[in-house]
Amino acid sequence: MADNERKQLSRRAVLKGAALIAGLAPLVQVRSAAAAGTVPKAAMKYQDHPNGKQDCSNCVQFIPGKTPAAMGECKVVAGSISPHGWCVAYTAKS
Ligand code: SF4
Repeated sequence: MADNERKQLSRRAVLKGAALIAGLAPLVQVRSAAAAGTVPKAAMKYQDHPNGKQDCSNCVQFIPGKTPAAMGECKVVAGSISPHGWCVAYTAKS
């Protein structure tokens, strides 16, 4: 294989890789956008305190913040969610 052919193949491989990465970027953005909920807090009767032993930190929908005490997000409810909040969509972790 001539040097010129090798360079062309290598350039093609780099361009294919770049195109693949560029093509995947929107999918990654869609996935992260889908992770956080969009339902308004009022519609789900969200409160920033627990309902008995039920709170967001032990709900399957909760997306924790950087620390256990930090505000997180929810897969259902929009906005910043307290780990000690609660709403009607509460579903206990098993
Ligand atoms: S209790 Fe409601 S707001 Fe809290 S994490 Fe679960 S679904 Fe989200």
